[in-house]
Amino acid sequence: MLVIDPEECIDCSLCVPECPVNAIYFEDDLPPDQQHFLGINAEYAPRWPVISQVKDAPSDADEWAGIPSKYENHFNPEPAGRLEDSE
Ligand code: SF4
Repeated sequence: MLVIDPEECIDCSLCVPECPVNAIYFEDDLPPDQQHFLGINAEYAPRWPVISQVKDAPSDADEWAGIPSKYENHFNPEPAGRLEDSE
């Protein structure tokens, strides 16, 4: 899971069409059932590492793409590590 820092975001919306699973919304378009992600982004953006380089998607990204309620059932507050980062 990635989060966007609301203090850094300039609301340009360029990221919205880039997300392959349509998980990014312009704030004004955020569905009512996903409003809690505003607070999650604000809470975790300052705590997790900044991604400053383009990386390939995780190898299991397609397996996770269609799984519902990932935040409710699988969220881990620790920043994600990539296998290649720990090897
Ligand atoms: S690309 Fe997305 S996260 Fe980055 S400034 Fe624009 S709207 Fe914000």
